[in-house]
Amino acid sequence: MPRVTPRVIVLGAGFGGLEFATVLSDEFGDDLDLTLIDESGEFVFGFSKLDVMFGRTTAQAVKLPYRNVVKPGVRVLRETVTSIDAAQRRVTTDRGVHEADFLVVGLGADYDLAATPGLAEAGHEFYSLAGAVGLAEPLATLSRGRAVVGVCGVPYKCPPAPSETALLLHDLLTARGVRDRCEITFTIPLPSPVPPSPDTSRALTAAFGDRGIEFVPGRLVTHLEPGRRVAVLDDGTEVPFDLFLAVPRHRVPEVVARTFDLAGDGFVPVDRASMQTQFPGVYAIGDVTSVGVPKAGVFAEGQGAVAAAAVIAAIRGGSSGGYDGRGVCYLEFGGGRVGRVDVDFFSGPTPTGRYSEPSTELVAEKRHFGSSRRARWFGMSG
Ligand SMILES: Cc1cc2nc3c(=O)[nH]c(=O)nc-3n(C[C@H](O)[C@H](O)[C@H](O)COP(=O)(O)OP(=O)(O)OC[C@H]3O[C@@H](n4cnc5c(N)ncnc54)[C@H](O)[C@@H]3O)c2cc1C
Repeated sequence: MPRVTPRVIVLGAGFGGLEFATVLSDEFGDDLDLTLIDESGEFVFGFSKLDVMFGRTTAQAVKLPYRNVVKPGVRVLRETVTSIDAAQRRVTTDRGVHEADFLVVGLGADYDLAATPGLAEAGHEFYSLAGAVGLAEPLATLSRGRAVVGVCGVPYKCPPAPSETALLLHDLLTARGVRDRCEITFTIPLPSPVPPSPDTSRALTAAFGDRGIEFVPGRLVTHLEPGRRVAVLDDGTEVPFDLFLAVPRHRVPEVVARTFDLAGDGFVPVDRASMQTQFPGVYAIGDVTSVGVPKAGVFAEGQGAVAAAAVIAAIRGGSSGGYDGRGVCYLEFGGGRVGRVDVDFFSGPTPTGRYSEPSTELVAEKRHFGSSRRARWFGMSG
Protein backbone atom coordinates (compact mmCIF):
# COMPACT_ATOMS: atom_id res chain seq x y z
CA MET A 1 0.00 0.00 0.00
CA PRO A 2 1.27 3.49 -0.71
CA ARG A 3 2.26 5.57 2.31
CA VAL A 4 0.24 8.64 3.29
CA THR A 5 2.77 10.84 1.54
CA PRO A 6 3.27 8.96 -1.71
CA ARG A 7 6.81 8.73 -3.01
CA VAL A 8 6.67 9.43 -6.71
CA ILE A 9 9.62 9.42 -9.07
CA VAL A 10 9.38 10.90 -12.53
CA LEU A 11 12.17 10.15 -14.99
CA GLY A 12 12.51 12.87 -17.61
CA ALA A 13 11.36 16.48 -17.29
CA GLY A 14 9.97 16.88 -20.81
CA PHE A 15 6.43 17.79 -21.81
CA GLY A 16 5.11 14.63 -20.17
CA GLY A 17 7.11 14.68 -16.94
CA LEU A 18 6.55 18.40 -16.35
CA GLU A 19 2.80 18.11 -16.80
CA PHE A 20 2.61 15.02 -14.60
CA ALA A 21 4.56 16.73 -11.78
CA THR A 22 2.42 19.87 -12.06
CA VAL A 23 -0.88 18.02 -11.80
CA LEU A 24 0.32 16.02 -8.80
CA SER A 25 1.68 19.09 -7.05
CA ASP A 26 -1.61 20.91 -7.62
CA GLU A 27 -3.47 17.94 -6.15
CA PHE A 28 -1.34 17.09 -3.09
CA GLY A 29 0.71 20.22 -2.38
CA ASP A 30 3.17 19.57 0.44
CA ASP A 31 1.63 16.13 1.07
CA LEU A 32 3.62 14.91 -1.90
CA ASP A 33 7.14 13.54 -2.17
CA LEU A 34 7.85 13.78 -5.90
CA THR A 35 11.32 13.64 -7.37
CA LEU A 36 11.71 14.77 -10.97
CA ILE A 37 14.97 13.54 -12.47
CA ASP A 38 16.55 14.84 -15.66
CA GLU A 39 20.12 14.74 -16.87
CA SER A 40 19.77 18.12 -18.54
CA GLY A 41 19.71 21.47 -16.75
CA GLU A 42 17.16 22.96 -19.12
CA PHE A 43 14.00 22.24 -21.07
CA VAL A 44 13.70 23.35 -24.72
CA PHE A 45 10.49 23.34 -26.77
CA GLY A 46 10.87 21.29 -29.95
CA PHE A 47 9.72 24.17 -32.14
CA SER A 48 12.41 26.41 -30.65
CA LYS A 49 14.98 24.32 -32.51
CA LEU A 50 13.58 25.58 -35.82
CA ASP A 51 13.77 29.15 -34.52
CA VAL A 52 17.43 28.64 -33.59
CA MET A 53 18.35 26.93 -36.85
CA PHE A 54 16.80 29.69 -38.95
CA GLY A 55 18.50 32.42 -36.92
CA ARG A 56 15.33 33.84 -35.36
CA THR A 57 16.76 33.48 -31.85
CA THR A 58 19.70 32.05 -29.94
CA ALA A 59 20.16 28.73 -28.17
CA GLN A 60 20.64 30.54 -24.88
CA ALA A 61 17.32 32.36 -25.24
CA VAL A 62 15.27 29.17 -25.67
CA LYS A 63 16.65 27.25 -22.68
CA LEU A 64 14.23 27.09 -19.76
CA PRO A 65 16.21 26.18 -16.61
CA TYR A 66 14.79 23.46 -14.40
CA ARG A 67 15.82 25.45 -11.33
CA ASN A 68 12.69 27.53 -12.09
CA VAL A 69 10.46 24.50 -11.49
CA VAL A 70 9.44 25.38 -7.93
CA LYS A 71 6.33 23.53 -6.79
CA PRO A 72 5.02 22.21 -3.48
CA GLY A 73 6.07 18.61 -2.91
CA VAL A 74 8.40 18.54 -5.95
CA ARG A 75 12.19 18.47 -6.04
CA VAL A 76 14.19 18.40 -9.25
CA LEU A 77 17.44 16.49 -9.48
CA ARG A 78 19.95 16.72 -12.28
CA GLU A 79 21.07 13.10 -12.59
CA THR A 80 21.48 10.54 -15.36
CA VAL A 81 19.32 7.41 -15.05
CA THR A 82 21.52 4.37 -15.53
CA SER A 83 19.16 1.52 -14.66
CA ILE A 84 15.52 0.93 -13.76
CA ASP A 85 14.28 -1.99 -11.66
CA ALA A 86 10.64 -1.69 -12.63
CA ALA A 87 9.39 -4.61 -10.54
CA GLN A 88 10.83 -2.99 -7.39
CA ARG A 89 10.21 0.60 -8.62
CA ARG A 90 13.86 1.35 -7.90
CA VAL A 91 15.96 3.65 -10.07
CA THR A 92 19.73 3.94 -10.17
CA THR A 93 21.39 7.12 -11.40
CA ASP A 94 24.95 8.35 -11.64
CA ARG A 95 24.38 9.86 -8.18
CA GLY A 96 22.53 7.21 -6.22
CA VAL A 97 19.46 5.00 -5.83
CA HIS A 98 15.84 6.19 -5.57
CA GLU A 99 12.80 4.16 -4.54
CA ALA A 100 9.20 4.96 -5.32
CA ASP A 101 5.60 3.93 -4.70
CA PHE A 102 4.80 5.22 -8.18
CA LEU A 103 7.32 5.47 -10.99
CA VAL A 104 6.76 7.41 -14.20
CA VAL A 105 9.04 7.03 -17.21
CA GLY A 106 9.05 10.00 -19.57
CA LEU A 107 12.56 9.77 -21.00
CA GLY A 108 11.57 10.65 -24.57
CA ALA A 109 13.19 9.25 -27.71
CA ASP A 110 16.92 9.21 -28.47
CA TYR A 111 18.50 9.79 -31.88
CA ASP A 112 20.46 7.08 -33.63
CA LEU A 113 22.65 8.77 -36.22
CA ALA A 114 24.76 5.64 -36.69
CA ALA A 115 21.67 3.80 -38.02
CA THR A 116 21.95 5.89 -41.20
CA PRO A 117 25.37 5.27 -42.75
CA GLY A 118 27.03 8.45 -43.95
CA LEU A 119 24.75 10.77 -41.99
CA ALA A 120 27.23 11.77 -39.30
CA GLU A 121 29.92 12.53 -41.92
CA ALA A 122 27.91 14.27 -44.60
CA GLY A 123 24.61 15.45 -43.12
CA HIS A 124 23.26 17.63 -40.34
CA GLU A 125 20.47 16.57 -38.02
CA PHE A 126 18.22 19.41 -36.84
CA TYR A 127 16.25 17.57 -34.13
CA SER A 128 18.57 18.33 -31.20
CA LEU A 129 19.42 21.82 -29.99
CA ALA A 130 23.10 21.20 -30.76
CA GLY A 131 22.16 20.08 -34.28
CA ALA A 132 20.02 23.18 -34.82
CA VAL A 133 22.85 25.41 -33.60
CA GLY A 134 25.27 23.60 -35.91
CA LEU A 135 23.03 24.26 -38.92
CA ALA A 136 22.72 28.01 -38.41
CA GLU A 137 26.03 28.74 -40.14
CA PRO A 138 25.66 26.37 -43.16
CA LEU A 139 22.17 27.78 -43.72
CA ALA A 140 23.39 31.34 -43.49
CA THR A 141 26.10 30.68 -46.07
CA LEU A 142 24.53 28.25 -48.58
CA SER A 143 24.57 30.20 -51.83
CA ARG A 144 23.98 27.61 -54.56
CA GLY A 145 23.13 23.94 -55.08
CA ARG A 146 20.57 21.62 -53.57
CA ALA A 147 19.39 21.43 -49.97
CA VAL A 148 17.60 18.22 -49.05
CA VAL A 149 15.31 17.84 -46.05
CA GLY A 150 15.02 14.11 -45.39
CA VAL A 151 13.68 11.69 -42.81
CA CYS A 152 15.82 8.68 -41.87
CA GLY A 153 13.43 6.54 -39.79
CA VAL A 154 9.92 6.02 -38.47
CA PRO A 155 8.39 6.84 -36.09
CA TYR A 156 9.73 10.37 -35.69
CA LYS A 157 8.79 13.34 -33.54
CA CYS A 158 6.37 15.98 -34.71
CA PRO A 159 5.60 14.69 -38.22
CA PRO A 160 4.85 18.22 -39.54
CA ALA A 161 8.28 19.59 -38.45
CA PRO A 162 10.17 18.58 -41.63
CA SER A 163 7.42 20.21 -43.75
CA GLU A 164 7.83 23.39 -41.73
CA THR A 165 11.59 23.15 -42.22
CA ALA A 166 11.27 22.97 -46.01
CA LEU A 167 9.00 26.04 -46.05
CA LEU A 168 11.16 28.05 -43.66
CA LEU A 169 14.22 27.09 -45.69
CA HIS A 170 12.57 28.57 -48.76
CA ASP A 171 11.96 31.81 -46.83
CA LEU A 172 15.53 32.00 -45.58
CA LEU A 173 17.09 31.44 -49.01
CA THR A 174 14.66 33.97 -50.52
CA ALA A 175 15.52 36.57 -47.87
CA ARG A 176 19.20 35.96 -48.54
CA GLY A 177 18.65 36.51 -52.27
CA VAL A 178 19.94 33.06 -53.29
CA ARG A 179 16.71 31.10 -53.73
CA ASP A 180 16.93 31.14 -57.54
CA ARG A 181 20.38 29.53 -57.36
CA CYS A 182 19.28 26.83 -54.88
CA GLU A 183 16.97 23.85 -55.16
CA ILE A 184 15.06 22.34 -52.28
CA THR A 185 14.04 18.68 -52.19
CA PHE A 186 11.87 17.44 -49.36
CA THR A 187 11.27 13.76 -48.72
CA ILE A 188 9.20 12.01 -46.04
CA PRO A 189 8.28 8.35 -45.48
CA LEU A 190 4.61 9.23 -44.94
CA PRO A 191 2.22 9.20 -47.90
CA SER A 192 1.29 12.83 -47.20
CA PRO A 193 2.59 15.57 -44.87
CA VAL A 194 -0.14 15.12 -42.20
CA PRO A 195 -1.97 11.83 -42.94
CA PRO A 196 -4.89 12.27 -40.49
CA SER A 197 -5.81 15.56 -42.17
CA PRO A 198 -6.15 15.52 -45.97
CA ASP A 199 -6.97 19.26 -45.92
CA THR A 200 -3.76 20.09 -44.08
CA SER A 201 -1.78 17.82 -46.38
CA ARG A 202 -3.31 19.49 -49.45
CA ALA A 203 -2.48 22.96 -48.12
CA LEU A 204 1.12 21.98 -47.40
CA THR A 205 1.56 20.21 -50.73
CA ALA A 206 0.21 23.31 -52.50
CA ALA A 207 2.62 25.49 -50.50
CA PHE A 208 5.55 23.30 -51.63
CA GLY A 209 4.38 23.58 -55.25
CA ASP A 210 3.96 27.37 -55.06
CA ARG A 211 7.52 27.70 -53.77
CA GLY A 212 9.16 25.29 -56.19
CA ILE A 213 10.01 22.79 -53.48
CA GLU A 214 10.34 19.29 -54.90
CA PHE A 215 8.23 17.02 -52.66
CA VAL A 216 8.89 13.27 -52.54
CA PRO A 217 6.37 11.52 -50.23
CA GLY A 218 6.49 7.87 -49.17
CA ARG A 219 10.27 7.56 -49.20
CA LEU A 220 12.76 7.05 -46.38
CA VAL A 221 16.42 8.03 -46.60
CA THR A 222 18.42 4.85 -46.02
CA HIS A 223 21.97 6.24 -46.26
CA LEU A 224 24.16 9.03 -47.53
CA GLU A 225 27.21 8.56 -49.70
CA PRO A 226 29.59 11.20 -48.38
CA GLY A 227 32.06 11.01 -51.28
CA ARG A 228 29.44 11.46 -54.02
CA ARG A 229 27.21 13.62 -51.81
CA VAL A 230 24.05 11.74 -52.64
CA ALA A 231 21.22 10.65 -50.35
CA VAL A 232 19.85 7.20 -51.21
CA LEU A 233 16.13 6.57 -50.75
CA ASP A 234 14.51 3.23 -49.92
CA ASP A 235 13.59 2.63 -53.56
CA GLY A 236 17.21 3.15 -54.62
CA THR A 237 16.67 6.69 -55.95
CA GLU A 238 19.72 8.90 -55.50
CA VAL A 239 19.21 12.54 -54.55
CA PRO A 240 22.30 14.73 -54.88
CA PHE A 241 22.76 17.31 -52.14
CA ASP A 242 24.99 20.18 -51.14
CA LEU A 243 23.37 20.48 -47.72
CA PHE A 244 21.47 17.62 -46.09
CA LEU A 245 19.08 18.42 -43.24
CA ALA A 246 18.11 15.24 -41.45
CA VAL A 247 15.46 13.99 -39.15
CA PRO A 248 17.57 11.20 -37.64
CA ARG A 249 16.25 7.77 -36.85
CA HIS A 250 14.67 7.63 -33.37
CA ARG A 251 15.00 4.86 -30.81
CA VAL A 252 13.90 4.21 -27.27
CA PRO A 253 16.61 5.22 -24.73
CA GLU A 254 18.94 2.32 -23.97
CA VAL A 255 18.08 2.30 -20.26
CA VAL A 256 14.40 1.90 -21.17
CA ALA A 257 15.10 -0.87 -23.70
CA ARG A 258 16.78 -2.84 -20.89
CA THR A 259 13.71 -2.48 -18.65
CA PHE A 260 10.56 -3.19 -20.64
CA ASP A 261 9.33 -5.65 -23.24
CA LEU A 262 9.05 -3.33 -26.23
CA ALA A 263 6.24 -3.16 -28.76
CA GLY A 264 6.69 -3.79 -32.49
CA ASP A 265 7.62 -0.15 -33.10
CA GLY A 266 10.44 -0.43 -30.55
CA PHE A 267 8.79 1.69 -27.85
CA VAL A 268 7.05 0.93 -24.53
CA PRO A 269 3.53 -0.55 -24.59
CA VAL A 270 1.08 0.95 -22.09
CA ASP A 271 -2.53 0.54 -21.06
CA ARG A 272 -4.26 3.49 -22.71
CA ALA A 273 -6.69 3.81 -19.80
CA SER A 274 -3.97 4.77 -17.34
CA MET A 275 -0.59 4.84 -19.15
CA GLN A 276 0.50 1.99 -16.85
CA THR A 277 3.14 -0.37 -18.21
CA GLN A 278 3.42 -4.12 -17.76
CA PHE A 279 4.64 -3.36 -14.20
CA PRO A 280 2.07 -2.30 -11.54
CA GLY A 281 2.69 1.25 -10.34
CA VAL A 282 5.02 1.98 -13.24
CA TYR A 283 3.74 4.35 -15.93
CA ALA A 284 5.22 5.51 -19.23
CA ILE A 285 4.29 8.75 -20.99
CA GLY A 286 5.19 10.65 -24.14
CA ASP A 287 7.65 9.80 -26.87
CA VAL A 288 8.97 6.76 -25.01
CA THR A 289 5.63 4.96 -25.46
CA SER A 290 3.99 3.06 -28.24
CA VAL A 291 0.48 4.29 -27.41
CA GLY A 292 -0.61 4.85 -31.01
CA VAL A 293 -0.28 8.61 -31.49
CA PRO A 294 2.60 10.50 -33.13
CA LYS A 295 5.48 11.61 -30.97
CA ALA A 296 4.71 15.22 -30.06
CA GLY A 297 4.83 17.42 -27.00
CA VAL A 298 1.11 18.04 -26.99
CA PHE A 299 0.46 14.30 -26.83
CA ALA A 300 3.17 13.72 -24.19
CA GLU A 301 1.55 16.41 -22.07
CA GLY A 302 -1.90 14.78 -22.42
CA GLN A 303 -0.46 11.41 -21.45
CA GLY A 304 1.23 13.00 -18.42
CA ALA A 305 -2.16 14.28 -17.29
CA VAL A 306 -3.77 10.83 -17.76
CA ALA A 307 -1.01 9.10 -15.77
CA ALA A 308 -1.36 11.76 -13.06
CA ALA A 309 -5.12 11.16 -12.85
CA ALA A 310 -4.48 7.42 -12.60
CA VAL A 311 -1.97 7.88 -9.76
CA ILE A 312 -4.35 10.26 -7.95
CA ALA A 313 -7.13 7.68 -8.31
CA ALA A 314 -4.81 4.96 -6.99
CA ILE A 315 -3.99 7.07 -3.92
CA ARG A 316 -7.33 8.68 -3.17
CA GLY A 317 -9.59 5.99 -4.61
CA GLY A 318 -12.02 6.44 -7.47
CA SER A 319 -11.49 6.15 -11.17
CA SER A 320 -9.84 8.18 -13.89
CA GLY A 321 -10.51 8.74 -17.60
CA GLY A 322 -8.34 7.19 -20.29
CA TYR A 323 -6.13 8.77 -22.92
CA ASP A 324 -8.19 10.24 -25.78
CA GLY A 325 -5.40 10.83 -28.33
CA ARG A 326 -6.42 14.40 -29.08
CA GLY A 327 -4.06 17.28 -29.70
CA VAL A 328 -3.46 20.55 -31.47
CA CYS A 329 -0.45 21.16 -33.73
CA TYR A 330 0.61 24.55 -35.03
CA LEU A 331 2.20 24.64 -38.47
CA GLU A 332 4.70 27.23 -39.69
CA PHE A 333 3.78 27.93 -43.31
CA GLY A 334 6.50 30.52 -43.83
CA GLY A 335 5.98 34.21 -44.41
CA GLY A 336 5.28 34.51 -40.67
CA ARG A 337 2.02 32.56 -41.09
CA VAL A 338 0.88 29.77 -38.79
CA GLY A 339 -1.86 27.21 -39.47
CA ARG A 340 -3.34 24.68 -37.11
CA VAL A 341 -4.56 21.10 -37.16
CA ASP A 342 -6.72 19.53 -34.45
CA VAL A 343 -6.11 15.81 -34.50
CA ASP A 344 -8.12 13.05 -32.90
CA PHE A 345 -6.64 9.58 -32.96
CA PHE A 346 -8.99 7.42 -30.96
CA SER A 347 -12.58 8.57 -30.94
CA GLY A 348 -13.45 7.40 -34.47
CA PRO A 349 -12.63 4.32 -36.53
CA THR A 350 -9.63 6.15 -38.07
CA PRO A 351 -7.60 9.19 -37.01
CA THR A 352 -8.97 12.53 -38.17
CA GLY A 353 -7.60 16.07 -38.35
CA ARG A 354 -9.41 19.40 -38.74
CA TYR A 355 -7.42 22.05 -40.58
CA SER A 356 -7.48 25.78 -39.82
CA GLU A 357 -5.89 28.04 -42.42
CA PRO A 358 -2.94 30.23 -41.48
CA SER A 359 -3.92 33.49 -39.79
CA THR A 360 -2.49 36.14 -37.50
CA GLU A 361 -4.72 34.83 -34.69
CA LEU A 362 -2.95 31.50 -34.96
CA VAL A 363 0.46 33.19 -34.73
CA ALA A 364 -0.69 34.62 -31.40
CA GLU A 365 -2.21 31.28 -30.37
CA LYS A 366 1.05 29.45 -30.99
CA ARG A 367 2.89 32.06 -28.94
CA HIS A 368 0.36 31.51 -26.16
CA PHE A 369 0.91 27.74 -26.35
CA GLY A 370 4.55 28.36 -25.39
CA SER A 371 4.01 31.13 -22.85
CA SER A 372 1.23 29.26 -21.03
CA ARG A 373 3.53 26.25 -20.54
CA ARG A 374 6.38 28.49 -19.42
CA ALA A 375 4.03 29.97 -16.82
CA ARG A 376 2.48 26.68 -15.71
CA TRP A 377 5.67 24.63 -15.42
CA PHE A 378 8.38 27.23 -14.83
CA GLY A 379 6.49 30.05 -13.16
CA MET A 380 7.73 32.42 -15.86
CA SER A 381 5.67 35.29 -17.19
CA GLY A 382 5.90 36.66 -20.75
C1 LIG B 1 12.21 20.28 -34.54
C2 LIG B 1 11.10 19.83 -33.64
C3 LIG B 1 9.89 20.53 -33.63
C4 LIG B 1 8.85 20.11 -32.81
N1 LIG B 1 7.69 20.84 -32.79
C5 LIG B 1 6.67 20.45 -31.99
C6 LIG B 1 5.47 21.20 -31.93
O1 LIG B 1 5.32 22.24 -32.58
N2 LIG B 1 4.46 20.74 -31.12
C7 LIG B 1 4.60 19.61 -30.36
O2 LIG B 1 3.67 19.24 -29.65
N3 LIG B 1 5.74 18.86 -30.41
C8 LIG B 1 6.78 19.26 -31.18
N4 LIG B 1 7.94 18.53 -31.21
C9 LIG B 1 8.02 17.23 -30.49
C10 LIG B 1 8.28 17.39 -28.99
O3 LIG B 1 9.41 18.19 -28.74
C11 LIG B 1 8.46 16.03 -28.35
O4 LIG B 1 7.53 15.11 -28.85
C12 LIG B 1 8.30 16.15 -26.83
O5 LIG B 1 9.37 16.89 -26.30
C13 LIG B 1 8.19 14.79 -26.16
O6 LIG B 1 8.00 14.98 -24.79
P1 LIG B 1 8.46 13.84 -23.76
O7 LIG B 1 8.07 14.36 -22.41
O8 LIG B 1 7.98 12.53 -24.18
O9 LIG B 1 10.06 13.77 -23.90
P2 LIG B 1 11.15 14.92 -23.96
O10 LIG B 1 10.54 16.28 -24.01
O11 LIG B 1 12.09 14.52 -25.03
O12 LIG B 1 11.86 14.79 -22.54
C14 LIG B 1 12.62 13.66 -22.18
C15 LIG B 1 13.60 14.11 -21.10
O13 LIG B 1 14.30 12.96 -20.61
C16 LIG B 1 15.62 13.33 -20.33
N5 LIG B 1 16.44 12.13 -20.36
C17 LIG B 1 16.62 11.26 -21.39
N6 LIG B 1 17.41 10.23 -21.02
C18 LIG B 1 17.74 10.46 -19.72
C19 LIG B 1 18.51 9.73 -18.75
N7 LIG B 1 19.11 8.55 -19.05
N8 LIG B 1 18.63 10.24 -17.51
C20 LIG B 1 18.01 11.42 -17.18
N9 LIG B 1 17.28 12.14 -18.05
C21 LIG B 1 17.14 11.66 -19.30
C22 LIG B 1 15.98 14.34 -21.41
O14 LIG B 1 17.03 15.19 -20.98
C23 LIG B 1 14.66 15.08 -21.61
O15 LIG B 1 14.58 16.29 -20.87
C24 LIG B 1 9.01 18.95 -32.01
C25 LIG B 1 10.23 18.26 -31.99
C26 LIG B 1 11.27 18.70 -32.79
C27 LIG B 1 12.57 17.96 -32.74
